[in-house]
Amino acid sequence: MKKIAIVGGGISGLSAAYLLLDKIPELDVMVFEADDRPGGKIWTERTNGFLCEKGPNGFLDNKPKTLQLCSSLGLSPVRSNENSKKRFIFSEGRLKALPESPLSFLKSDLLSWGGKFRLLYELKAPKGPADETVADFIIRPTL
Ligand SMILES: Cc1cc2nc3c(=O)[nH]c(=O)nc-3n(C[C@H](O)[C@H](O)[C@H](O)COP(=O)(O)OP(=O)(O)OC[C@H]3O[C@@H](n4cnc5c(N)ncnc54)[C@H](O)[C@@H]3O)c2cc1C
Repeated sequence: MKKIAIVGGGISGLSAAYLLLDKIPELDVMVFEADDRPGGKIWTERTNGFLCEKGPNGFLDNKPKTLQLCSSLGLSPVRSNENSKKRFIFSEGRLKALPESPLSFLKSDLLSWGGKFRLLYELKAPKGPADETVADFIIRPTL
């Protein structure tokens, strides 16, 4: 039987292992994780009654495969509500509200004016191919 080594027990490695074993149960799959726990960037802490997501706290539901994976794992994602629109970034020693409207975006000091114009340019910037990798997105010239 083929042996498969997966390096990294974040969501990528764990879901790769899960899906491989789901398709071919006889495979000998081993996930190698450098940290003392699996999960990678995904981790939840409960401290003093607060629930704190260390990294991701949601995903877009426009790809059915993500929801299928949740369902096959017996997970029922909770749909975000109005409260989740209030988001903050801790920067320069204080919490800064993420803009919720075009006007608050213009007033916000989260980005420089150059950064704001560059972000607005995204509306007109040439688009990459569907399902572009992050690496291709980063190196693709857009101006
Ligand atoms: C603050 C934050 C918020 C985010 N919010 C969202 C969100 O809301 N929604 C969303 O969809 N995404 C979000 N993301 C992105 C999402 O967290 C990542 O895309 C995803 O978790 C990456 O998973 P991964 O398995 O590819 O990598 P990782 O989670 O980084 O896992 C890689 C694993 O490999 C291990 N590893 C590395 N090198 C070795 C080695 N040589 N040997 C063994 N093990 C090794 C690491 O220890 C780690 O556990 C967020 C990310 C961050 C940082």
